[in-house]
Amino acid sequence: MAAPGNNAAELHIDPSEVKKEILNRYPAKVARRRARQIVVNKVDEGEQVPEIHANTRTIPGILTMRGCAYAGCKGVVLGPTRDILQITHGPIGCGFYSWLTRRNQTRPKSLDDPNYMPYALSTDMQEEEIIFGGEKKLKKAIQEAIELFHPKAIGIFSTCPVGLIGDDVHAVAREMEEKYPEVNIFGFSCEGYKGVSQSAGHHIANNKVFTDVVGQLEAPKEGSFRLNLLGEYNIGGDAFEIERITEACGLTVHSTFSGNSEYDEFASAHTADLNVVMCHRSINYMAEMMEKRYGIPWFKINFVGARATAKSLRKIAAYFGDATLTEKVEKVIAEEMAPVEKVRQEVEARCRGKLAMLFVGGSRAHHYQELFEEIGMKTISAGYEFAHRDDYEGRKVIPTITVDADTRNIEELTVGPDGTRFRPRKGAAEIERLRQEGFRFNDYEGLMPQMADNSLVIDDLNHYETEVLIEKYKPDIFCAGIKEKYVIQKGGIPLKQLHSYDYSGPYAGFRGAINFYREIDRLVNSKVFRFVKAPWQENPELAGSYGWNG
Ligand code: SF4
Repeated sequence: MAAPGNNAAELHIDPSEVKKEILNRYPAKVARRRARQIVVNKVDEGEQVPEIHANTRTIPGILTMRGCAYAGCKGVVLGPTRDILQITHGPIGCGFYSWLTRRNQTRPKSLDDPNYMPYALSTDMQEEEIIFGGEKKLKKAIQEAIELFHPKAIGIFSTCPVGLIGDDVHAVAREMEEKYPEVNIFGFSCEGYKGVSQSAGHHIANNKVFTDVVGQLEAPKEGSFRLNLLGEYNIGGDAFEIERITEACGLTVHSTFSGNSEYDEFASAHTADLNVVMCHRSINYMAEMMEKRYGIPWFKINFVGARATAKSLRKIAAYFGDATLTEKVEKVIAEEMAPVEKVRQEVEARCRGKLAMLFVGGSRAHHYQELFEEIGMKTISAGYEFAHRDDYEGRKVIPTITVDADTRNIEELTVGPDGTRFRPRKGAAEIERLRQEGFRFNDYEGLMPQMADNSLVIDDLNHYETEVLIEKYKPDIFCAGIKEKYVIQKGGIPLKQLHSYDYSGPYAGFRGAINFYREIDRLVNSKVFRFVKAPWQENPELAGSYGWNG
């Protein structure tokens, strides 16, 4: 076993052997499937990487890190929106456990602005509704919510039982909208079991927000360089930091899908001049559909990491091609990078060579590698919970992805140009010139081409495999979510939550990078985790008793 704090240069571990050891414990059929989801990375010329299996069902019995479609739709995509009133149709547990757990922050423009995020509204289905149907209760809940809050819009989120008993949330939404025409009411068929992970919920959310909200309002914001920021969820205040930077540069963020967002911004998002995409997996559908219907080009950016932020700002400035904007962007970068560099150097001196593992999200396990790199840390293993092959291998593989029953389960909208509002923001010649300059429109290179050869890339990691990775590599830090946190920390390894950031943040942008460097420094250089003894290390036999004395 590698000693704690071993650095990358001293590590003599064959990742193929680790993979073999992981698979040895599985029954043959399970091992065959997992073998295709655990890949030793190798980047060839032209960014060719090995194929990885992703977006396939978790094998029953495996303790997965994944969430459900409802979590992806309500928790991830719509959760950060403050003035769409969200009603979970189902038993109370789904609503309660998706209530602000991702620490999305929001900043209403005035004290009178509605903010429904502190509320967890649910129909609280009981046995009676499971037997006789819950539509009546849902209508009552909508009516009560309208009378109490007078919202502009209501989203209804379906949980597993709703699909199983056949409640039609869309029919209820239509009926209630007729009764209350001033409220935009729409339902999401995001029952937890749809698809193989929360990824299905992202797609369902994108479709409905696109058909029922985007394009409802003609209210372009003032500004010469107006863009939508897609796939940024304002966890721990990330969007606030990005807004601070973009504003200083002279850019207008028309809407963020969906960190610190509001209904009117979604509804008029089709008036912006550019879409930039942060989290590819959760929102690429929206970028594609907005381009087809309204003519808004999109490209991938990343505001996680100080260097990545500077690169993304330069890319946006180059797209608009305005000398004053470029000058302003360079000025902001120069001013912001000075304090970042000071802290970075201090922290790098203590962190260089340390090892990280990242298993989170659908772009985060990629983005955060840039932050670790900035302080000299190496990511030896990474993977996603809900990604598809293109998030790993790049969008060039999309035509070769097999469409299975689970994918067919999610509606794919056919979108064409809007008769009156389609307006290509750039002519074909201009787009071609930008391509020649290195712009990759409608593209994402994926996680694997940027990871080192011989790193282990694992899709849908589980608890058992996590323990093997820790045992073999003894990383200096592991980044995942709350379900993994305590198991990993009991193994003596510090864990940083990258879904909710624990209690900290922001980590995006320049000030966010400083926060992250300092926090990682404290975590990887603290000795406290090495003193942790898991209960099973001293007492491998677990004994328990029932609390019933009758
Ligand atoms: S899987 Fe179903 S029951 Fe569980 S949280 Fe998701 S929607 Fe609710």
